[in-house]
Amino acid sequence: NVADTQNNARKQGQLNGNTSIEDSAAALKKYEKGLDVWIQDETLVWVQATVVGTMKDGRIIVRVGPGQDSVVWVKGDYPQMCGENNFVDTEDLTRLNPLTEPAVLHCIHERYKQGEYYTTAGITLVAVNPFSTVPSLYSQAKIQLYSSAQPQDIKMTRDLPPHVFAVAQQAFSNLSRGLGSQAIIVSGESGAGKTWTARCLMRYLATTSAGKRLPGQRTPTSIVKIEKRILDSNPILEAFGNAGTVRNHNSSRFGKFIQLQFNRSCHLVGASIQTYLLEKTRVVHQAQGERNYHIFYQLYHGMSDEERELLGLGGEEEEEEYQFEWLPTDESQNDRIDINGELSPFQDVIPDRTTTLPLVSFPSDDDWSSFAITRQAMTSLGIGKCQQQEIFMLLSAILHLGNILFNSEAHDDGCPCTIEEDNQRCQQSLRTVCSLLGVNEDALGRCLTYRRITAAPGRRKSVFMKPCKPAECVARRDCLDKLLYARLFNWLVDIINKNICGEQADWKTFVGLLDVYGFESFPENSLEQLCINYANEKLQQHFVHHFLRAHATDRRIWTMAHQGMPLLNFQKNEYEEEMIPWDYCHFVDNKDCLELIEGKISIFALVNEECRLNRPSDSLQLADRIHSTLGDSRHISRPKSIHGQAAFTVCHYADRVTYQLEGITEKNKDAVPEELVELITQSGNKFVSSLVGDMVGTEGATSKKVRTARTVVSKFKGSLDKLMHTLESTSPHYIRCIKPNAQSRPGVFDRRHVHCQLQACGVLETVNISRMSYPARMAYPAFLERYGIIMRTAADQATSSRSSVSSLSSLSDENLDTENLDPQELLRRKNQVAAGGTPGTPGRRRRRRTA
Ligand code: ADP
Ligand code: MG
Repeated sequence: NVADTQNNARKQGQLNGNTSIEDSAAALKKYEKGLDVWIQDETLVWVQATVVGTMKDGRIIVRVGPGQDSVVWVKGDYPQMCGENNFVDTEDLTRLNPLTEPAVLHCIHERYKQGEYYTTAGITLVAVNPFSTVPSLYSQAKIQLYSSAQPQDIKMTRDLPPHVFAVAQQAFSNLSRGLGSQAIIVSGESGAGKTWTARCLMRYLATTSAGKRLPGQRTPTSIVKIEKRILDSNPILEAFGNAGTVRNHNSSRFGKFIQLQFNRSCHLVGASIQTYLLEKTRVVHQAQGERNYHIFYQLYHGMSDEERELLGLGGEEEEEEYQFEWLPTDESQNDRIDINGELSPFQDVIPDRTTTLPLVSFPSDDDWSSFAITRQAMTSLGIGKCQQQEIFMLLSAILHLGNILFNSEAHDDGCPCTIEEDNQRCQQSLRTVCSLLGVNEDALGRCLTYRRITAAPGRRKSVFMKPCKPAECVARRDCLDKLLYARLFNWLVDIINKNICGEQADWKTFVGLLDVYGFESFPENSLEQLCINYANEKLQQHFVHHFLRAHATDRRIWTMAHQGMPLLNFQKNEYEEEMIPWDYCHFVDNKDCLELIEGKISIFALVNEECRLNRPSDSLQLADRIHSTLGDSRHISRPKSIHGQAAFTVCHYADRVTYQLEGITEKNKDAVPEELVELITQSGNKFVSSLVGDMVGTEGATSKKVRTARTVVSKFKGSLDKLMHTLESTSPHYIRCIKPNAQSRPGVFDRRHVHCQLQACGVLETVNISRMSYPARMAYPAFLERYGIIMRTAADQATSSRSSVSSLSSLSDENLDTENLDPQELLRRKNQVAAGGTPGTPGRRRRRRTA
């Protein structure tokens, strides 16, 4: 690292060699000998060093590393000051002084070393994933500790160490105090711990709401049942929507917003779940080293021999293992993550294993036990044995479909492509699929190998069938499979909602938990990443707005923010009006970037237009159109590295991402050939046909036509707008999950990896602004009303509230009116202040109000 630093230093020395001597001399003044500073480093991002001296040409000499080797640092990129505080860890990053990027990283790292995984950052909680069981971190005692903070005792909640439970308690307290619905937004990259955190929050809120009952008060059975059902929705959604990926062995392949509904007495009485963007492609294609959805493995390993026979899954003899194309297993992943056989954050809290999901899902043993849990959860959610059987039959059919292959030789000889006749496994699978789906073999074969072409020359429509090329047959097969799985997933979400959603009249407020994909940037990015990053931009905008709302007390200033005034200007105005010293800080408003993606003339609009025109898509032309139409935006550019390729680069708030346009139009259309929908509609299996029931509409009396589907981005934008609207009605809380290393290992803190995430989720910026802009604000009268109680006499509370506040804030503990006040009275007043009570004669006032 020292060598890296030296190289860096030299490199930068050459680059920055022409800064004026006067500038350097002024900047160098503060680098006194012996001063502790942070200097940049390739691997560690920042390392501590000690200034040895400065040189006339502007260079600074520092000693760094255990051996204290001398390193020449350079002018133009000055080291950051360490300050005294930086070596002391703190639970709240905003308390670091000076508050610098290196200090934030250092503090989170130091806490991680000490086994402290949660840190407060202004209005955000930073949660580092330990990747190991941390005894007592989620124990019953911990829940009790946090939930014992009474609703009005906000101070106590704040005084407890940062924890995901503290955030949940804060939300619950707000709810209890009648402050309306709450939302907890959990973000972070894949494997950072979002789903784990959301599960912790759910359990905490369910437990705390149950604990709210008075001693001796019996919980109505209906409430107990609903709590259990709500928690049981997790194993089902995770079985059908999670899969092992190279980044997370239990990666959620969909976004989720769950609203926990509470009645007037703050009892959990129901919930509703909204899901986003299930990754359908995974059913038919798994990248190297990744798995299909957990449920397929659970089914394969968890069923008894008779059941397997019934579903056409064969016996469990060794040679028959993994006979399915779409059931890849990667043995190397079995021991990829050492989580010590841990089951769930709550295994010691709720001994009933039926409501907990094993976290390791690779070895077949776990698939076996997970399957039992999934089944039990299904039963608890009102999915009966028969219905379960229908689901399993469909899943088996989906697996068997993957084994259907097409005869490319026939096509090469100029004959129409057919399903492989000589391949025994393929023929067996074809029969099984047809019997499980309740469709005719010929009909299925024809649907997969021929496509319907409707021509309308003049007034008369003519329909004819055209044989497909082998690749087209495969695409049609995959399309059918994805359709069935996605429809099954949606059906499950609907059923879960029907069984857990409270009657509208029963619930008054909710706590929303949002667990969506974090910001993504891969070597190759497509429509999925565009949607995910767009969602993250939206959430970032929501965060910025909320942040400002919390800080801008003046309505006018808030309006200015909405009108797109640069944020630092209007904050500055507010500070100037109040004569508060103010330093500039750069806080990015991502309005322009969002406009580029979703506005009237935007990437989404152009990509949608391409779908609407219904012509053979040409990604190069689309790229040209995007650049010529939107090129003026400072948030879009032509990627430099890939010349001549259909791509564009978006400068997101978190990072620059290059998106490839190849295939994007097809993905956006997500078209399903109508023949396939018709085939499924005509299935003899009512469950199967009902899954696509809403995809066909009647046109005239007899003919059926597949409804024109909205594009993927339109649908996604629609559901996201709805989500944002819901979030707007809540008080939000933020949890940023951080993955300490890419390998998901316990005890490894990769500083560069963490630094990138802190930057991407805006923690560094937020911390800065939280600290600069005084996070706690009160109007003078409100301040006096709350704290005036400790002033000597009522006369001190002068008519000019501003001067009273001034004199009140100069009071220290010693000159409080402690001598003349009765100690009991003093204690009462102090407690009242801590609890946020009103001064003077609070009892009387309250009584009057209630009267
Ligand atoms: P994400 O939803 O962000 O992709 P997960 O919540 O699935 O990530 O977490 C990935 C894995 O990390 C979990 O399966 C679990 O093994 C581990 N993990 C996450 N948070 C914790 C925690 N607080 N304590 C212990 N292990 C954790
Ligand atoms: Mg997840």
